[in-house]
Amino acid sequence: MTDIIQLLPDHVANQIAAGEVVQRPASVVKELLENAIDAEATEIKLIIKDAGKTLVRVIDNGKGMSVTDARLSFERHATSKIKSAEDLFQLHTKGFRGEALASIASIAHVELKTKRPNDDLGTTIEIEGSVVKSQEATVTPTGTSVAVKNLFFNIPARRNFLKSNNVEIRHITDEFHRVALTHPNIAFAFYHNGNELFNLHTENYRQRIVHIFGNKTNEKLVPVEEETEVLKVSGFIGKPEFSKKTRSEQFFFVNNRYIKSPYLNHAISAAYEGLLKDGYHASYFLNFTVDPKTIDINIHPTKTEIKFDDEHTLYAILRSSVKHSLGQFNIAPVLDFEQQSSFNTPYSYKDKTVAPPKIEVDRSFNPFEDGDQTKEKSTYNAVNFKKEPAASWESLYVGLESKGNGKITDFSELTFESEAKTDFIFKSSTIETNKTTFQLQQKYIVSTIKSGMLIIDQNRAHQRILYEGFLKHITVKEATSQQLLFPLELSFTPNEIHIIKDVKTNLEHTGFVFSEISEERLTVTGVPVGVSDSEVSIILEQLISDVENDVPDASFSAADVLAKSMAKSLAIKNGQTLNTEEQEHMVDSLFACKEPNVSPTNRPTFITMKVDDIEKKFM
Ligand code: ADP
Ligand code: MG
Repeated sequence: MTDIIQLLPDHVANQIAAGEVVQRPASVVKELLENAIDAEATEIKLIIKDAGKTLVRVIDNGKGMSVTDARLSFERHATSKIKSAEDLFQLHTKGFRGEALASIASIAHVELKTKRPNDDLGTTIEIEGSVVKSQEATVTPTGTSVAVKNLFFNIPARRNFLKSNNVEIRHITDEFHRVALTHPNIAFAFYHNGNELFNLHTENYRQRIVHIFGNKTNEKLVPVEEETEVLKVSGFIGKPEFSKKTRSEQFFFVNNRYIKSPYLNHAISAAYEGLLKDGYHASYFLNFTVDPKTIDINIHPTKTEIKFDDEHTLYAILRSSVKHSLGQFNIAPVLDFEQQSSFNTPYSYKDKTVAPPKIEVDRSFNPFEDGDQTKEKSTYNAVNFKKEPAASWESLYVGLESKGNGKITDFSELTFESEAKTDFIFKSSTIETNKTTFQLQQKYIVSTIKSGMLIIDQNRAHQRILYEGFLKHITVKEATSQQLLFPLELSFTPNEIHIIKDVKTNLEHTGFVFSEISEERLTVTGVPVGVSDSEVSIILEQLISDVENDVPDASFSAADVLAKSMAKSLAIKNGQTLNTEEQEHMVDSLFACKEPNVSPTNRPTFITMKVDDIEKKFM
């Protein structure tokens, strides 16, 4: 038989990468604007035709490219921004993957003109669907101009997937806002079909916000300024009386990158508690400066999501900084400053003494025990790890077929030296030992196994556990719902409501109950068991952003996106302390999963360190 494996031709590989990088014209806008900023431009022009469907053009006065670099910039993995993997942890540029231009050129007609300050002549390159049509010397001003025409000309399915011009231009405007807000020291102009939409001069941050969102914005801004050991928060929040019915003025930037974080957004809502009318949202324009080593921005190709080492502490700092500003500027009726103790936590953790861990082990506790329904069993409540009655706990795991039937063959060599309660999973381990887990930096659970040591990422592991639970509920359509005492009224934009309607049936299978959905509001009367009222908005916001970010043509499964999204929203965060029982329960539940090795987004949930490896290190 002949061999059957082939290497994909470059243009095919580029098109596949383009599926991730370029979802719509706004993605092109984002990549081109970021390249211009990385090139140290001080003036950037964005020119759009037909909502970007026929033309996206970005002109900058940055450092330009040499003849060779101009050609190389369209190769995959061609980047001037990192040289080694270590550079990833000290990123000061927007780009680093070196795939944007290659991807864009594989699905559009691209014309690049560029010249460096000291060169007399510049270069023009024309590329259509990865094929270089021409490259020649040209007279052109210093800097770079990239014109992207006829997006998706060779992928009709993607082209047909584009929304109306109104929707697409809104996405483009959103990207423009985000980039322009983070760089008030750069002048930006934006034209659509020949009309000037924005003309922003170099200015300070407050002026930039006002010039983007209108003169009325000025009086509503309250400065926020807070510096702690772990992060610096600066920027502005809106006075409560100016809150809006939409979330269009909510911006987080981390080290000058726009990010979405329903969880941190929740921290702000919590700070405004009692100050906003129902269904209204505070405005905020906040920048975080953190050590690049403590974040992972490589998580999503479009880079709007960041993973923090310690989200839990960030939440506390953010909430108290916002409260502080609201109080300081007399916006809030003298706020509960007796709560100062929680406010102080992040500042004082250097001096904190370490309390000896309390170990309370219920020897007779067996979460997997059948029959005995009378005893209360512990469960992973989504966020708080509250105890729930046995019935709801079991409903999360029924049918996962973990009864030692070989499902977990990947773990054949991982035998647990933990409690007897797990022995139906790991038949061979019956040795009773004392405490076998501990928590490292409120982030990892370390557990011993026969052959060595297991280090589990608590957030990813919990995502996996929740994900399988939700997926099962959705497919089996067995909702376990808990009724809310007071129905929750939430407001969204019509576009967001549309997205929720699309996944409504699946949401109901997880336990949500909606009593009413109108153009801009929805009323929630029931939630999945274990989900609290305050988590509902986090879940729905996260869901909306996940659906929006999902690559449209990749085997799109609404149920899967929903289960992933809910797992992400509800999984315990890094920075959260878990007691021994919770740790052990986490380990057991993880290994009762069908695919314990990876998180729902395919990242490792744990690593093992064999005694052999440890021994080698001592040699
Ligand atoms: P990345 O930005 O991740 O490096 P891109 O595909 O976006 O990858 O760009 C590839 C390279 O092309 C960049 O690293 C940079 O050297 C060069 N480049 C792209 N756009 C510009 C620009 N506007 N001005 C100068 N150089 C650019
Ligand atoms: Mg780039």
